[in-house]
Amino acid sequence: MPRIAHAELLHWLREEDPAALEQLFARADAVRRAHVGDDIHLRGLIEISSFCVRQCHYCGLRAAHSMPRYRMSRDEILAGARKAVELGFGTIVLQSGEDFGIEAAWLAEIIRTIKNETPLAITLSLGERLPDELRLWRDAGADRYLLRFETSDPALYAAIHPRRGSAVSDRVELLRILRELGYEIGSGVMVGIPGQTYEMLARDIMLFESLDLDMVGIGPFLAHPETPLGAPGISTAGHDPKSIDQVPSSEWMVLKAIALTRLVCPQANVPSTTALATINTLDGREHGLQSGANVFMPILTPAPYRQMYQIYPGKACIDEDALQCNHCLRDRIENLGRSVGTGPGGRFTRTPSHSVPTLRSQPRFAPQKNAPSPLVVLH
Ligand code: SAM
Ligand code: SF4
Repeated sequence: MPRIAHAELLHWLREEDPAALEQLFARADAVRRAHVGDDIHLRGLIEISSFCVRQCHYCGLRAAHSMPRYRMSRDEILAGARKAVELGFGTIVLQSGEDFGIEAAWLAEIIRTIKNETPLAITLSLGERLPDELRLWRDAGADRYLLRFETSDPALYAAIHPRRGSAVSDRVELLRILRELGYEIGSGVMVGIPGQTYEMLARDIMLFESLDLDMVGIGPFLAHPETPLGAPGISTAGHDPKSIDQVPSSEWMVLKAIALTRLVCPQANVPSTTALATINTLDGREHGLQSGANVFMPILTPAPYRQMYQIYPGKACIDEDALQCNHCLRDRIENLGRSVGTGPGGRFTRTPSHSVPTLRSQPRFAPQKNAPSPLVVLH
């Protein structure tokens, strides 16, 4: 049985009363504290290649977009890993477009070297690769894999994420394969994709729970003008976004989705994303951390490349170097009275450490038992 029923998720996604939402965010923050503690884990993001064979309608790296591309060398990736250790990070995330120029054996050797020479956990985010390749990387020591399913709605998914030739694109099935291979698995969605309705977003959150995700990444959809979804007033899957129940890609909406995700996946690692920081450069990151998130992913990609990894325009922090970014994030964490996590920071499985207060003034969220619980009932 789901922790929060679909109707209730829908209610909260539509809620606009600031006082009620403050209670939702406070409740998610308390569940976060009880289940994963006050540590914020830093994952150094190394964007190892901008080549991509896919044509995702939302993404600036899509194959049809002509722009200079790069693929980092072995030495550059290893230097990035050493930098992560130097800066005190416990994990690196190796991310790229779906680039089959990244040969499986070549990357496996790099993974083995990093695991032999450093204490880092390694997360991969390389798109839809073959099960044999995923197994090779897991055997080489990779710990986690991020693959957002983007939307749980089959029609919207098909409209924005075209198949590659005749190959089926089933990210949910790939997540199951990744789990069987022994990876910690992460997924997520963009909030405010043209054509995304409140019903769909509520089902996305239910799918996070039923997949029992170890990591969940949620950020706003940010229109890239040189992609099919970047045109103003774009319609998707035959719908006019003005006439459907379109979810906005606002900060508020992202925070609601993060908070509800924390309630249904209390032990998951949930980042306060760069995309969220992009729509509110001042304190979007902090708002994410105060609504249920417990991870930051500072960009470690070397300067000449990070400008070329333009998933969407105006990406926060790409003009800062790794050192500046590290200082800035640590200051933000300290100012919130939270601590920087040490070690790999994998999924928490321990018993909750604190009791979670219930909501007071308008008890829309009431725990079903006295024990700390993310369960909520709508009154
Ligand atoms: N290629 C891999 C993949 O697709 O899983 C990893 C890299 S891809 C750039 C990482 C994530 O960026 C995607 O899963 C998607 O959710 C997000 N993304 C792409 N375009 C975006 C946009 N216009 N606005 C916000 N997020 C976007
Ligand atoms: Fe390629 Fe990933 Fe962008 Fe899709 S989202 S175009 S797979 S980089």
